[in-house]
Amino acid sequence: MTKQPPDDLYLRYMAAFRAATAHTADCPACQAGQDCAPGAPLHERLARLQDAYRARQAKQRRR
Ligand SMILES: [Zn+2]
Repeated sequence: MTKQPPDDLYLRYMAAFRAATAHTADCPACQAGQDCAPGAPLHERLARLQDAYRARQAKQRRR
């Protein structure tokens, strides 16, 4: 595995991951998979960044 310096997309992905995880830890609705009003945008943001990050990883692997 090649080691890469943390970059902006990765940092935003991690920040979104932490935000969503921290919220879910205190939210029974999100724990049950039913996104609440404040939680939905957090999960949406995480999903978007995760997609972008994975898409980029896949692209890099093809090199
Ligand atoms: Zn929630």
